[in-house]
Amino acid sequence: MKFTYYPLLAAVSLASLGALTACSDAKNATAAESNAATSSALAADSAETATITTAGNATAASVGNGGSPATIPANKRADAATIIARPQVPILCYHQIRDWRPRDSKGAKDYIVPVEQFKAQIKMLADSGYHTILPDQLFAYLTTGAPLPSKPVMLTFDDTDLDQFTVARPTLDKYGFKAVYFIMTVSLGRPNYMSKAQVKQLSDEGNIIGSHTWDHHNVKKYQGDDWVTQIEKPTKQLEEITGKKINYFAYPFGLWNPEAIPELKKRGMDAAFILAEKRDQQDPLYTIRRIIASGYWSPRTLHNSMVQSF
Ligand SMILES: [Zn+2]
Repeated sequence: MKFTYYPLLAAVSLASLGALTACSDAKNATAAESNAATSSALAADSAETATITTAGNATAASVGNGGSPATIPANKRADAATIIARPQVPILCYHQIRDWRPRDSKGAKDYIVPVEQFKAQIKMLADSGYHTILPDQLFAYLTTGAPLPSKPVMLTFDDTDLDQFTVARPTLDKYGFKAVYFIMTVSLGRPNYMSKAQVKQLSDEGNIIGSHTWDHHNVKKYQGDDWVTQIEKPTKQLEEITGKKINYFAYPFGLWNPEAIPELKKRGMDAAFILAEKRDQQDPLYTIRRIIASGYWSPRTLHNSMVQSF
């Protein structure tokens, strides 16, 4: 896609708007598919969940030594079929954490989780014995079968919203939870978005920073220099901010195509995250599934959705 120039603020609000509308489209498109699969998924679910290799009641931190993309050589990694066959770890995707405003549309409220609702969802995870894991642990589990803590879950936050730092971070801290923050770099330092210093702090505190493009354009439309603008430069900027290599990517709107995968590999990504649709059979590490934790969901609904979707 060729970029039309917009003043920065306009670009940001367009990106946010796009994130809301296109994410709902992607979600609706997959709803029918998920519903069709629900009964068989439910039947298979309890059996599958039981086969996740866990390390008993160990904490996430104590079983974090299964390796990372840097330490697991290609010839030691399981093939695609083996990776697909492993039980999936539930992964939740959040956007804004704030109370609803009168102007918020019905559709937007899937992406805006009210503060008390968010706190209740996270408390449910802690009270139910879930342990948050990070992408390196997931990578080691998927590629080598490395054990995970009991009841693993991954929490991810997209789009750089400031309330992820001011609301989500202290809530997760209360339970010793860590998360992944997928940063859209165009927003850094803008009003209502995180600053570079806040992103660095999240990274220093043991969370993982991932890449989520420069300004949230759809990966399926990239041509030529778009890969540099949307992936290479923003990823390099995030590496400069955190002082760490960036290994993980989340597709804007969850939209991807097989052509994008070699481009991400060339640019140092070891895994990439989609939303609730089907994984790629050849490259499951580049199509890891997440569900959007809706603002409408009570803790019980969230739990049911996790069990049904993964
Ligand atoms: Zn996004």
